[in-house]
Amino acid sequence: KVAVFGTRRYDVDSLEKATPKGSGLEYTFIEALLDHTTVVLAKDHDAICLFVNDTCDKAILETLHELGVKYVALRCAGFNNVDLSAASKLNIHVVRVPAYSPEAVAEFAVGMIMTIVRKYHKAYNRVREGNFLLDGLVGINLNGKTVGLIGTGKIGLLTGRILAHGFRCKVIAYDPYPSKVADEYGVTYVNTLDDLLERSDIISLHCPLTESTKYIINDDSLSKMKRGVILINTSRGGLIDTYALIRALKSGHLKAVGLDVYEKESNYFFADSSAKVISDDTFARLLSFYNVFMTGHQAFLTEEALENISDTTIQNLLDLESK
Ligand code: NAD
Repeated sequence: KVAVFGTRRYDVDSLEKATPKGSGLEYTFIEALLDHTTVVLAKDHDAICLFVNDTCDKAILETLHELGVKYVALRCAGFNNVDLSAASKLNIHVVRVPAYSPEAVAEFAVGMIMTIVRKYHKAYNRVREGNFLLDGLVGINLNGKTVGLIGTGKIGLLTGRILAHGFRCKVIAYDPYPSKVADEYGVTYVNTLDDLLERSDIISLHCPLTESTKYIINDDSLSKMKRGVILINTSRGGLIDTYALIRALKSGHLKAVGLDVYEKESNYFFADSSAKVISDDTFARLLSFYNVFMTGHQAFLTEEALENISDTTIQNLLDLESK
């Protein structure tokens, strides 16, 4: 018995659709994010199924343990929302979907860059109003620009490949664990993060959120970037100190920013239209900048990715059951 937390019915629908008949897996859709209040709804389930915006800290894991929940199946790659050491002490197994569609996120990141440099979003709004004037819509070519990737795992390398091979950008990267195949992707490593910050026209974040990467973009790192740099974050909100970002936007140091992820996502992430989406002060302030392009953590959201998420989650649950 699996309690599927979330605010999207299609998560449980896609699991039910893909589950082989006779597997014994049964799902309950819990239309709420997992938190200290909703955790009791996991009662009478062996497993819970979560996404990045659910909270699964030590106290919640202790309650889950008392309720008899043995497994946490994440429908996502990142696991920064789960206290893994507490889970292991309580003998709660945590599984995840390590790679459902790195292509989906890489293509989205490149789309975000294109949107910003060619102002698609502004042009679209204008044309809808019958306004075909072009003033204010002058863009820049990507060809020949230096793009800096922070993190060259699955998504970073694919993003690099599209930019290097498709747009002929000069793609440089920083990663403490460099990939041996980066060359094939058209990606060249620099020695230090500072090198990358100083040289890039566009910087795209593709590293996970960990203790060492939290606020990797802060006042200091922003000040090392070229004036007029474009910053893209499709990775995790906590990589950027949002107040520092707002300061750099205000001073004009940043030319433009593309964000798919935010520090306090659970406040408004996947909120329905009746929810107060602008409950967070930083979010409202970001919205006020005309040069910030924002989406609501949708980089992964393709048909192919959703299919992979369901298939891998089901396989993970079946593997756990047979342990
Ligand atoms: P990955 O594990 O394949 O690669 C991450 C890379 O980051 C690794 O090469 C690692 O060495 C590197 N890294 C670690 N610390 C670093 C540091 N301090 N500086 C630079 N690089 C560092 O992960 P991935 O599949 O490429 O995913 C990257 C991130 O994208 C995930 O952690 C996740 O947060 C995010 N993501 C977002 C979405 C979305 O919908 N927006 C979807 C999937 C994943």
